[in-house]
Amino acid sequence: MPNLCYFRGQLVPLDEARVGIRTHALQYGTGCFAALRGYWSDAEQQLFVLHMRAHFERLQGSARILFMRLPAPVEGLMDITLDLLRRNHVRSDVYIRAIAFKDAEEIGPRLHDVSDALAIFAIPPRSNYMATYQGIRCCIAPWRRVDDNGIPARAKVTGLYVNAALARTEAQLNGYDDAIILTRDGHVSEASVQNLFLIASGALHTPAVSDDILVGITRRFVLQIARDEFGLPTVERQIDRSELYVADEIFLCGTGSEITPVREIDGRPIGGEDVGPLTRKLQELYFAAARGRVAKYRHWCTPAYVTA
Ligand code: PMP
Repeated sequence: MPNLCYFRGQLVPLDEARVGIRTHALQYGTGCFAALRGYWSDAEQQLFVLHMRAHFERLQGSARILFMRLPAPVEGLMDITLDLLRRNHVRSDVYIRAIAFKDAEEIGPRLHDVSDALAIFAIPPRSNYMATYQGIRCCIAPWRRVDDNGIPARAKVTGLYVNAALARTEAQLNGYDDAIILTRDGHVSEASVQNLFLIASGALHTPAVSDDILVGITRRFVLQIARDEFGLPTVERQIDRSELYVADEIFLCGTGSEITPVREIDGRPIGGEDVGPLTRKLQELYFAAARGRVAKYRHWCTPAYVTA
């Protein structure tokens, strides 16, 4: 599996890409990142990186919020990543992370006048990291989401993930798989590291971008396929906690967790005995499209290898 990583402008062995303990990002959480997946197609002998441009566009936005300058524009970041995958001869599913971080070894929390660096590495994805087939059990976290005027959720800030970790740890120590986090004013925001959707009265609902969510890339494409392929009305709006308990179907989505059905929240079963039919249909289409098998959505997938 991959051994070379991109670090400060060069490809170096992963084990040699190290930072000092005084690094600003380590001390203060002043980094932002992109997490991508590549899907290997045996049939085409090709590696497809999913929604690559969108991930790097979002990283650029995060970097802007944190006063960082990335070493290349979006196209350049895509080229670096594809080159990295090729140089590592990746021929299996892969998880890719690009992290921009304040690398100065300086004390004092601030964003201006602190140097930054970019690293990109590729590692094997965790297998069935979320139970995407059978679905998961969630609780509502007692921890609230940090709001846009605290740490903006739309910037994928490393330090913000303490909030996700607090919520998920508490959920798992109490026997659940994951947590759903509410905004400070008590509306549904998202799960620890996934956006949330519910199906009710034949429509697909998801919290609005103003509800302190990371504006997910998977979320954007789920909204699109729900509308275009299944004719489902889609609604982005404020959602109350108790709407979750009475929803017909609920699922979480994200690059890492793909589309994960939620079977239970706070001890209340969601929908019927099985995973809901719309969740299943969306999931099947999503998996096929991610592997480049749906012509209409082929542009989601950037091939890493040049073919004849
Ligand atoms: N919310 C949070 C907090 C996340 O960390 C993620 C994973 N990146 C998501 C939502 C889903 O985002 P995406 O679909 O862009 O991976």
